[in-house]
Amino acid sequence: MHSVTIVWFKRDLRLDNHAPLMNAINSSRKILLLWIYDDFMRQSSLHSERHLCFQLESIYDLNRHLSPLNTSVLAVEGKAEEIFAQLSETLNISEMLSYRESGTHDTFERDKRVKHLLRERGILWQEFPRTGIKRGSETRQDWSRDWEHQVREEGCQTDLTRASFVSTDVLQQLALKHLQALAPKISVVQPGGRTFALQYLHSFIEARHRGYFKHISKPEAARFHCSRLSAYIAWGNLSLVEIWKKAQDAFPEGSRRDLQQFVSRLKWQSHFIQKFETDGRIEFDNQNAAFNVVRNDVNLHWVQAWKDGLTGYPLVDACMRCVAATGYLNFRMRAMVVSFLTHHLWQPWQLGAEWLGAQFLDFEPGIHFPQFQMQAATTGMHTIRIYEPIKQSLEHDAEAVFIRKWLPELAALPAGLIHQPHLLTPLEERMYSFRRGIDYPLPLVDTKVSGAKAGEILWNILKSQEAKKEAARILKAHVVSPERKKAMKRGKIFS
Ligand SMILES: Cc1cc2nc3c(=O)[nH]c(=O)nc-3n(C[C@H](O)[C@H](O)[C@H](O)COP(=O)(O)OP(=O)(O)OC[C@H]3O[C@@H](n4cnc5c(N)ncnc54)[C@H](O)[C@@H]3O)c2cc1C
Repeated sequence: MHSVTIVWFKRDLRLDNHAPLMNAINSSRKILLLWIYDDFMRQSSLHSERHLCFQLESIYDLNRHLSPLNTSVLAVEGKAEEIFAQLSETLNISEMLSYRESGTHDTFERDKRVKHLLRERGILWQEFPRTGIKRGSETRQDWSRDWEHQVREEGCQTDLTRASFVSTDVLQQLALKHLQALAPKISVVQPGGRTFALQYLHSFIEARHRGYFKHISKPEAARFHCSRLSAYIAWGNLSLVEIWKKAQDAFPEGSRRDLQQFVSRLKWQSHFIQKFETDGRIEFDNQNAAFNVVRNDVNLHWVQAWKDGLTGYPLVDACMRCVAATGYLNFRMRAMVVSFLTHHLWQPWQLGAEWLGAQFLDFEPGIHFPQFQMQAATTGMHTIRIYEPIKQSLEHDAEAVFIRKWLPELAALPAGLIHQPHLLTPLEERMYSFRRGIDYPLPLVDTKVSGAKAGEILWNILKSQEAKKEAARILKAHVVSPERKKAMKRGKIFS
């Protein structure tokens, strides 16, 4: 039997700019391309059907490119370690190559089980770092410089004609639970796959980026002017390296300020994932333990109202209904809905992180959990931002275009009234055939009161010795620029 190299696709569903695949091709062995939907994902409330569809659409797209080479991605479901055990009984596997994942606790534990199994069977597993992400004892001193170097120097076109793949016939005969790769369906959720990813990248770089920074916080305009590449990055249809290079090429003709802002966020992507890689505990626990004393009373009715978009604050509710339908919200609106849940409703961030993780098509644990904690003010290292939803509404959706789209029950109200429907007078209720508290709920809380109360409690904790001690501990482990480190030691809180 020929010896086989397995390339295990995880959050890297592409063929180009793929270091493990490149290395597999160079090994001159037969290559088997594998993707696994692990059983635990079906049970986890963080892994939604939306994510599965996106990945299957991505695989469908890969298979279109692979079919002339008489191969396809072996897409199977089950327990990863059992799948590898079965494969190793049928095939002569000499090594496995994959990217290293900075995933949730579940995926980390799965990888440990797979590693154990492979080691027992004498199969080498070589893991390649994702752009800029370091593990364990790898030095982080020059993190930023190393990141710049990698995006500049890495990247490659894959020459598939040099590869020899396990044929589709052989793959189909493997006694595993095969998953059908879906044909892409047009829906309000962005479709998965590299073909669509390249179209989004092209349209952003060619035209849509003009106005990026001006519209980045607007719930409606950001959907067009932001790149909308997050899901394609999160599931690896595109690599950061190729996006960065495309953006660099566009500088001479494009809008400099917009492209600069965009490129800086590509680095944030890795920066946040690095935080999570360094401290995976923040999937569950407050990053700064001094905040463990707050938000211990859960009000499930309020949490449900938040999830359903029935809080009585139109912009919050429009966002929650929009994300449930489309899987996307721009950054500011994500920050605002988290702020509303954690500061105004005073609920634990963990409940929201799970719910929104399943809603966001671009769910990336390495960004999601650190961002949630930043917005919930549990890091002890950043300033506390409590978004006032009506102010956000008036600033970012003044004409209520977004609100009307997602809250049809308010659509008839004029812009002057729609942001605070609970303030309508009885005469206005009759004029617009709208009943306060019946057609649309009254506000769950008064955000002037709830915001002030949350601010007072959180700032007191932030200034406490315990929070500062914790912040110093966190600082030691994380990637922070030397200037920032110095300033933070002097007690400066960053925004
Ligand atoms: C509570 C909360 C949860 C979030 N969860 C996720 C998540 O699960 N997955 C995810 O990709 N982003 C997450 N973000 C970050 C950000 O909101 C999205 O990356 C962005 O809105 C995606 O839209 P875009 O692709 O058009 O971004 P663009 O503005 O076009 O940015 C380009 C890329 O840069 C990266 N990026 C942009 N903003 C940030 C940021 N603030 N932090 C880190 N990377 C960034 C993303 O990869 C993005 O695709 C979260 C933000 C908050 C406040």
